[in-house]
Amino acid sequence: MLEQKLNDLSLLKHAGFINGQWINDKNGKTFEVFNPAVGEVIANVADLGAKETLHAIEAAQAAFEKWKVMPAKQRSSLLRRWFDLVIENQEDLALIMTFEQGKVISESRGEVVYGASYIEWFAEEAKRIYGDVLPNTTADRRSLVIKQPVGVVGAITPWNFPNAMITRKVAPALAAGCTIVLKPASETPLSALALAQLADRAGIPAGVFNVVVGTDAKAIGAELTSNPTVKKITFTGSTVVGKLLMEQSAKTVKKTSMELGGNAPVLIFEDADLDKAIEGALVAKFRNAGQTCICANRILVQDSIYEEFISRFTARVSEFVLGDGVSSESTMGPLITRKAVAGVVSLVNDAMSQGAKICIGGSVADNGDYFFQPTVLRDMNTSMRLAKEEVFGPVAPVFKFSTEKEAVAMANDTEFGLAAYMYTKDHSRIWRVGEALEYGMVGINETAISSEMIPFGGVKESGQGREGSKYGLEDYLEIKYLCLGDI
Ligand code: NAP
Repeated sequence: MLEQKLNDLSLLKHAGFINGQWINDKNGKTFEVFNPAVGEVIANVADLGAKETLHAIEAAQAAFEKWKVMPAKQRSSLLRRWFDLVIENQEDLALIMTFEQGKVISESRGEVVYGASYIEWFAEEAKRIYGDVLPNTTADRRSLVIKQPVGVVGAITPWNFPNAMITRKVAPALAAGCTIVLKPASETPLSALALAQLADRAGIPAGVFNVVVGTDAKAIGAELTSNPTVKKITFTGSTVVGKLLMEQSAKTVKKTSMELGGNAPVLIFEDADLDKAIEGALVAKFRNAGQTCICANRILVQDSIYEEFISRFTARVSEFVLGDGVSSESTMGPLITRKAVAGVVSLVNDAMSQGAKICIGGSVADNGDYFFQPTVLRDMNTSMRLAKEEVFGPVAPVFKFSTEKEAVAMANDTEFGLAAYMYTKDHSRIWRVGEALEYGMVGINETAISSEMIPFGGVKESGQGREGSKYGLEDYLEIKYLCLGDI
């Protein structure tokens, strides 16, 4: 039982958080939150919809009037206090995450710290929102640029990083002086509500950070995207939903930031340090049981080292221990839903029907029907669905290439452009390939590339805008030009 494991039971919330109040559905409607490791219901959460979303938007607009004029230093202190509370409650937040999402507890602990790092970073950046004084065009004029918060922000987040995908949006929005209405994924509402509870405890005023939990994503999304009070939509999730939200937001010309799907290639050249390449590919593929947007979706290996890579990589994959994430022995948890497992099965079957061979794994695991075995597939070709679609599961398809030119062409042969990785010791190749890869982020001899200090985001159909770093704040700010005449 989750309740018995928590130090602070008040972090376990079952209602939406609007205007500083915990809000239930008027008719008591709730939805179930599952622990995918055991397939059991762990909570019933208020099932809110469009009406409550409207209420939250109005509360956020009212709060915006005060929040935007609060001195940056004061906003910064409140964010800093929120950061401290998240860190103090790391273990409880990690437990809530593992129970509702399934990732192993060590990864959940890591995500809480990673998520908190965005709050810390943007607490600091809140004090560095500078304008400009421009050179004059005429002697009697002065031209200035100031930066102002965009206004009320609507945020929609996925289940795979139930904490960090939220802090990456809420922290820069609040630092910029915006207020926000968040709709978290309905698989993982508890992590979002715990964050709201801590923000409230930190003293962030009512209405500044609102959370609408509910299963009618279409209706909540429609209100957020059509309401003219909302000035920006920030979304992390699938490309198909991202496109829909952009379309809906166009009617009121909202700013949008989109962190969408990926199809990350890992290019391993024959001059690579193979030990490092194997470990890097392992981390990039199997973190969160393969359910991350920057997961290695395609491993491309030069033909001269293909066999050695396959046998050594497969040996490392055989060491994973599948199980309930709360057990310290487990090194990989379940997938989020049965539907997700069915999706992985279908992609593996498609590859096998076109000639792929299984080196290890390949089926649903004995641990229960939410678990899929860590899998390595060889003899892949580019007409298989696994070459084009995000697998979102623990399946590593290994492709073969002969030349650098072929590797780059294969890597870029996708509508996605989020993250790519390469392993090589050749410095001129690093530049050539680094510049040729059509991706927002490129890891070179490294696959753990994310942090609060770097601009995370993609190109092509992987999205627009960046999260984290100094660039992450710009997405929540408008530029205003002031022209002073008659000097
Ligand atoms: P998803 O189906 O797009 O859902 C994401 C969020 O959108 C959830 O909150 C969902 O609500 C909501 N939603 C679904 N349909 C909607 C609609 N019609 N209108 C408004 N909101 C709607 O994506 P997912 O399967 O949960 O997440 C996995 C995807 O996220 C992958 O493609 C992954 O690559 C991507 N991702 C990208 C990044 C990045 O930074 N680029 C990071 C993490 C994940 P419900 O939960 O209530 O359905």
